[in-house]
Amino acid sequence: MTFTLQDPSLLRAQAYIDGQWQDADSGSHFAVYNPASMSTIAQLADLGATETTRAITAAETALVDWRERSAKERSQYLRRWYELIMEHQEDLALIMSAEQGKVLEESRQEVAYGASFIEWFAEEAKRIYGDVLPGAADRRLLVTKHPVGVVAAITPWNFPNAMITRKAGPALAAGCTIVIKPAAETPLSALALAELADRAGIPAGVINVVTGQDARAIGQALTDSPAVRKLTFTGSTPVGKQLLRQSADTVKKVSMELGGNAPIIVFADADLDQAVAGALASKYRNAGQTCICANRILVQSSIHDAFIDKFVAAVAKLELGDGLSDSSTLGPMISPRAATNVENMVADAVANGAAVALGGERALALGECFYPATILSNVSSDMRVFREEIFGPVAPVFRFEDEAQAIAMANDTEFGLAAYIYTQDMARIWRVSERIEYGMVGVNEVGITSEIIPFGGMKESGLGREGSKYGIEDYIETKYICIGGLGA
Ligand code: NAP
Repeated sequence: MTFTLQDPSLLRAQAYIDGQWQDADSGSHFAVYNPASMSTIAQLADLGATETTRAITAAETALVDWRERSAKERSQYLRRWYELIMEHQEDLALIMSAEQGKVLEESRQEVAYGASFIEWFAEEAKRIYGDVLPGAADRRLLVTKHPVGVVAAITPWNFPNAMITRKAGPALAAGCTIVIKPAAETPLSALALAELADRAGIPAGVINVVTGQDARAIGQALTDSPAVRKLTFTGSTPVGKQLLRQSADTVKKVSMELGGNAPIIVFADADLDQAVAGALASKYRNAGQTCICANRILVQSSIHDAFIDKFVAAVAKLELGDGLSDSSTLGPMISPRAATNVENMVADAVANGAAVALGGERALALGECFYPATILSNVSSDMRVFREEIFGPVAPVFRFEDEAQAIAMANDTEFGLAAYIYTQDMARIWRVSERIEYGMVGVNEVGITSEIIPFGGMKESGLGREGSKYGIEDYIETKYICIGGLGA
């Protein structure tokens, strides 16, 4: 399907540096395509290290003025940006579904979710308080808060809007300027946000978006620069580890939102219909391509078969199709490579004894990126579907016998982002939520994210928290000032 925007000028193909739309110095381009049809949507400016360094300089120059603006003024810019994003919600959703593939309703929701971070941090901008500490009579001990400086943000393709606003919102609110490197698969959503930031009057250089397909070169320029005082990254754990290493030489502040391997634990005393609905919503959102998607469904033995029956009946109703079609409830995956990866994981499980309860065959008739909603049973912890982040619409259902085994299975991973529990037993809710090593726990609920809560993981799922009153801390330096000589 094609799409028509009410405001076609939101579709930008150049990078945005120092308030100017710019091509690559070399004039080269790369294609952004729609994964549903594999047709090209736009040819994007293909920037590299040199242009990235220019963007850092622009951000460094803009910082001088931006950090001196009053909190109220910064708040007003953010508020205007938020309003413009919501005014263009439908166009931004169309751009997102076209480049990323997610179904249109989910894209609309992501635009609103993304905008909520700008609104939230417009409000938080005014609430960055310092302190006066009790000390001796002849001195005053002050704690003051300052922006960290120029921020580099590297973001993934699975949430092309919200992963940018969740970083840019607190950065700008705190008085930082930012250089954003969006995923090469989904730069159009990032550039549409930059266009709206421009219209909101946010000064040149405060927000810069560097597009390019050589992520390594752009990332190296960002991490090498001593002017960049903070790196905030959302993406895979291996790339996060690499960027941590690269950030060591200049001792940057770092925030890392990395991969997950979320368990959903369904106890025998759970409301089964509620658990089935939760597992479906969590697993198949964005075709299984979110970091907090249920990766492993752990079901107590006594209700295992009943769960599978109800789960298969519910999931079979999902309609696989083009994200731009309002009738689709499950879109394509991001790329043929991603679909092949999922295909290989299912093959590994089946070769080791798993049974396919639903789906299990790539839907090539629809296109190379389509993989159907799939449910596997008879799976075990030595299979790839237990150990790795599946990042696709495949739900492996594991059995457990008792609470201790469920907790051990949930924690048997290097990841620790999100986990979900279904049970009606209040004492168990407390015990299990405290013993599982995850940054976020949903109890009888999978819709756990919003701008209000601290999003982030434990173990190899990351460092720091985004959103909420805590999310601004990563963009702030704390300074202590001692004023002495005050004695009479
Ligand atoms: P990815 O391959 O790590 O890519 C993420 C970003 O890093 C992209 O912009 C990518 O650019 C860039 N990149 C890749 N290699 C780089 C390098 N050597 N130096 C600098 N930048 C580099 O991850 P993805 O496949 O896009 O995203 C999926 C992953 O993100 C999953 O593991 C998911 O769990 C995680 N995720 C986590 C959260 C969270 O909040 N914890 C949220 C969403 C997603 P190119 O696209 O140009 O290669």
